[in-house]
Amino acid sequence: MLASPRCGAKTRSSGVCRSPAVHGKKRCRMHGGAHRSGAPRANQNARKHGLFTRDAIAERRQIRALLGEARKLLEEMK
Ligand SMILES: [Zn+2]
Repeated sequence: MLASPRCGAKTRSSGVCRSPAVHGKKRCRMHGGAHRSGAPRANQNARKHGLFTRDAIAERRQIRALLGEARKLLEEMK
């Protein structure tokens, strides 16, 4: 029972929720992990600037990786 990931949501009676998290989600069914709750994948309803779209995040990750590689290369050339 305790091997499965826990919900961890803050409860009103202080402390954290210890219910098991819904599969594939971080929270239990009482704390936002319920079936069909939350925004659908690739939802654009509340989009303002697209800074957190999957594409933008992936792009940033690639740039960071490239920067890391370049830095490593520069370090090796010293
Ligand atoms: Zn919970």
